[in-house]
Amino acid sequence: MSMTGLVRGLNQFHSNYFNSHQELFEKLSHGQTPEVLFITCSDSRIDPCLITQTQPGELFVMRNVGNIIPTFRVDSNSEGAGIEYAICALGIKDVIVCGHSHCGAMKGLLQIGSLTEEMPLVYDWLRHHAESTRRLVLENYRDCDSQELLKIATEQNVLTQIENLETYPVIRSRLHSGQISLHAWIYDLETGTVLAYNAAVNQFSPLEKTSFPVPDLLAQVHSDHASF
Ligand SMILES: [Zn+2]
Repeated sequence: MSMTGLVRGLNQFHSNYFNSHQELFEKLSHGQTPEVLFITCSDSRIDPCLITQTQPGELFVMRNVGNIIPTFRVDSNSEGAGIEYAICALGIKDVIVCGHSHCGAMKGLLQIGSLTEEMPLVYDWLRHHAESTRRLVLENYRDCDSQELLKIATEQNVLTQIENLETYPVIRSRLHSGQISLHAWIYDLETGTVLAYNAAVNQFSPLEKTSFPVPDLLAQVHSDHASF
């Protein structure tokens, strides 16, 4: 998509969607009340609002390479600030970490040595915040082929990041009192479907297709899959 194409898109957005949703945008100009923090990869093939069919104002989205949450540190970082704001200022009660199939960051994690020369910053990012995933996968799944390893790494990375989320005092406290739920999802590029981690059986399984038409999708997710 060229810049010309983007500008054409801006014009189309304004004359079509914006004009037909003026009431929504007027309301949003006074503030936001999203109920979900959606953390996913920067990968261009994922569109959180598209796959959840949500409107502006409904998802507080944080994205980075590999949908990674550094563990809590007293010195600030972007992810920590975003989490604090989402929980404390917006009062968000559901946090989703959504990985995806064919994730380049996970491929990099499995061959991390190859990143040192060309992408030292990506190397550092993965090394610091996804090392436990890398080690778990390589030490426990030696016999798997590369496709299986990538799938397992993607799943385990999402679970690692959920654990990292739990190191934040603001999340730990609200988990204790049952005021917040954490959800681990994997978006599958080929099928456009989402797998959710089911703690009861310790595996990712598809969200029920029959649950898709239910207006409150997240409420259905809660009942289908025990949260953490
Ligand atoms: Zn990715």
